[in-house]
Amino acid sequence: MTMVFPQAIQKNSYAGFVEFAGFIFMYFSNKIIKYKTKQRELALGITVIECIFIHSLMDGVIYTITFSISIVVGVLTGIGLVVHEFVEGIITFSIYTRIIIVD
Ligand SMILES: [Zn+2]
Repeated sequence: MTMVFPQAIQKNSYAGFVEFAGFIFMYFSNKIIKYKTKQRELALGITVIECIFIHSLMDGVIYTITFSISIVVGVLTGIGLVVHEFVEGIITFSIYTRIIIVD
């Protein structure tokens, strides 16, 4: 994120605001769920699901845009997106494993 964020601000001045809004949304979403359910692990699990949903939605937008540019760009971007899904899966697995172990 430290590598991409300066480039995002250069390309769009609202990038910082959108990133900040995302962090605030996730922070308070977690706090509200934790307050309502009184279960820390459940709140973390639901917040992770929200993050994955938004992330995957953005992945879909990227697939659509890159394939509309050209098939080659779409395929190359698709390979990169598939590779980064392994990292995403490992992170999600480690978070849910931690929740199950804590619970
Ligand atoms: Zn992804």
